[in-house]
Amino acid sequence: MIKNFKQKYSIFSLARNSLSYHKNWNKAWRSPHPKKNYDIIIVGGGGHGLATAYYLASVHKLNNIAVIEKGWLGGGNTGRNTTIIRSNYLWDESAAIYEHALKLWESLSTELNFNVMFSQRGVLTISHSEHELKEMSRRVHAIRLNGIDSEILSPSQIKEFIPIINTNQNIRYPVMGGFLQKRGGTARHDAVAWGYARAADSLGVDIIQNCEVQGIIRDQNKIKGIITSKGEISTKKLGVVVAGHSSLLAEMAGLKLPIQSRPLQALVSEPIKPILDTVIMSNAVHMYISQSDKGEMVLGAGVDKYNSYAQKGSFPVPQHMISAAVELFPVLSRLRMLRHWGGIVDTCPDASPIISKTDVDGLYFNCGWGTGGFKATPGSGHVFADLIANNEPNKISAPYSINRFNTGFLIDEHGAAGVAH
Ligand SMILES: Cc1cc2nc3c(=O)[nH]c(=O)nc-3n(C[C@H](O)[C@H](O)[C@H](O)COP(=O)(O)OP(=O)(O)OC[C@H]3O[C@@H](n4cnc5c(N)ncnc54)[C@H](O)[C@@H]3O)c2cc1C
Repeated sequence: MIKNFKQKYSIFSLARNSLSYHKNWNKAWRSPHPKKNYDIIIVGGGGHGLATAYYLASVHKLNNIAVIEKGWLGGGNTGRNTTIIRSNYLWDESAAIYEHALKLWESLSTELNFNVMFSQRGVLTISHSEHELKEMSRRVHAIRLNGIDSEILSPSQIKEFIPIINTNQNIRYPVMGGFLQKRGGTARHDAVAWGYARAADSLGVDIIQNCEVQGIIRDQNKIKGIITSKGEISTKKLGVVVAGHSSLLAEMAGLKLPIQSRPLQALVSEPIKPILDTVIMSNAVHMYISQSDKGEMVLGAGVDKYNSYAQKGSFPVPQHMISAAVELFPVLSRLRMLRHWGGIVDTCPDASPIISKTDVDGLYFNCGWGTGGFKATPGSGHVFADLIANNEPNKISAPYSINRFNTGFLIDEHGAAGVAH
């Protein structure tokens, strides 16, 4: 009822504001000056950080929370990724967290009263060799055992599903088959950041942009606060969710993380009429492609092979990705590139994330999502909020403790992470 009223009200306000040249347009979230103290501070205003703050306020009814972002909301990997969402991972631990996220995606626009444009257009992973196809069949059975939808398609079924694909068997990467998750798809990346930000703000969370965390203050083994470009702020609980910059923040607290930070690139073509209504991935080629709602072809590749914080990558990676894409989709050969960019992803040795307490009381890290964390955004925020609120991991996040690198209970998703999007 309240939501309906809000929706009607926003239609009228849209008309009113268009006539007044948006003079009285309400800001979607406030821009408060940081207070001297917060009960909980989240560092990082990407999707994961904002989702964490939102669930701390909405599910755990906590208040006096701030999100500190050094740039603008969603300006990190959240706004740079190719938005592939799926939950068809191999291991039980991964299935649990990515499926938890996928279920939250399915009602996210309603939950936030903000259209995140979640589109379950399907994600099809193609195999190019006999060996890959056999490995895929095993994977599909494992995925199904976890109750997650997944099906094998033959080359002719693939051709029927994606008429523009080249299924000629004499090309460098012939299509031998593939597996499809129909419930997978895409969402509008910045809308996810904006939706969580508006909802968190309406519950009293202070979202502070253009505020860089430059130091972490510890009192022996306890968190005391942070030093920022806008002054010192004290807190007893600090959640760090800064993707490609996790090791820098860890260093500020005197910790080391088993993380490598690498560039990951993507590009879009000029917009064209709708020709592709699903997401295609190829692990062997390291290429994935979809068409945005604006009509641009969205293409991504694997990581560059060196460490960097520079948010740009090397030329051979997109070159390789484009040549493979054109071989599979000759129809794209005359398209021009419109934009190209890079982000820095933080990768763990087992290609799975860290959602964990640390040896410092009140300091929590959520990182290591590598090339595939966008799909996890709601689930990651949900379980990280739970960890911070209760100071204990729940069943889903427990396997992602940093201690797994001591115990050896790794969650090796390198197979799924050939192209982990
Ligand atoms: C090109 C590319 C394609 C990708 N494609 C996919 C895909 O298709 N599917 C998928 O699931 N995933 C994909 N990913 C991965 C995905 O984007 C990330 O895993 C996910 O967005 C991470 O979200 P986040 O909120 O943790 O990070 P971010 O959105 O990067 O947010 C972290 C924030 O922390 C801020 N920050 C950093 N240091 C500080 C500091 N000192 N003080 C204050 N703030 C700080 C940053 O400015 C940033 O805004 C892709 C990534 C890239 C780069």
